[in-house]
Amino acid sequence: MAYYNENTVLWLDGSIIKAAEAKTDLYGQSLHYGYAVFEGIRSYRTAAGDTKIFKAVEHYDRLQRSAAAMNMPFDYSTTELIAATYDVLAKNKLQDAYIRPVVYAPANMSFNLNTESYTAIQAWEMAPFLGDKLLRVMTSSFQRPNPKGFKIEAKASGHYVNSILASQEAKGKGFDEALLTDMNGHVAEGPGANVFFEKNGKLFTPATGNILPGITRATVLEICHELDIPIEEGQYSTRDLLQADAAFFCGTAAEVIGWHSLDDKPFGKPFPDTLSRRIQLTYKDKVIEKQTELATI
Ligand code: PMP
Repeated sequence: MAYYNENTVLWLDGSIIKAAEAKTDLYGQSLHYGYAVFEGIRSYRTAAGDTKIFKAVEHYDRLQRSAAAMNMPFDYSTTELIAATYDVLAKNKLQDAYIRPVVYAPANMSFNLNTESYTAIQAWEMAPFLGDKLLRVMTSSFQRPNPKGFKIEAKASGHYVNSILASQEAKGKGFDEALLTDMNGHVAEGPGANVFFEKNGKLFTPATGNILPGITRATVLEICHELDIPIEEGQYSTRDLLQADAAFFCGTAAEVIGWHSLDDKPFGKPFPDTLSRRIQLTYKDKVIEKQTELATI
């Protein structure tokens, strides 16, 4: 996939520069040690024809918290970064886009603190709502990083080595995606999405603590409350999931995407007949069609 061409621009610490001319330091601490934080954000073209970012404040606030959790200097306000993002979208003529802000470290082969960091905002086209295909999911042999070893609530680049290993393993075995457990063997999340499952008219999702608390997960919880769908946050085994009526992943890129099967075992109900499908359709209606969750700034 081509993320940029010779006309693409990105935002780097206050300047708009050509993506093809942007440079990074091969001696950087982020490249060598995975010491960086980032976000994944979506924008949508609205019914009125303009461009709006989904939950921009929540994403940039999380970026700031991630940087703080990693002891990285971070000099921007959420408002400034949102304005910069709209600028990147407009200059690249993007509407339905995926936005990737990243905060990274200077050249530093030691483990010492840095006095500065760099912030870049990149964006590329991404069509909305990829969610109609059902996923064949595999329980990964990899577990999520132990929260006693990492600040798992932060969206830190290094954590994604674990995601890459799990996703590559699943795809290598002919599945669409992986499901990872936490260090206690409880269901945790996908490599880049949170997980929900459904049983007897009730929804379940792993509690926070050992997962990235997703902004889409929070939106799905809001939808459950609005639709009066009972929801429980707790600790679940893969056996609970294997006995479920349905399951889905949710995340900024994935939006809400149903599962066909886990470890080749199909779920109890056809997906179109489930509350999970209703949640998927409500998410689509709210976010993409009615755009009620989109940023007002
Ligand atoms: N878990 C992981 C590991 C992720 O990478 C993501 C994507 N950011 C999510 C969950 C979902 O988070 P969000 O809904 O904020 O995109």
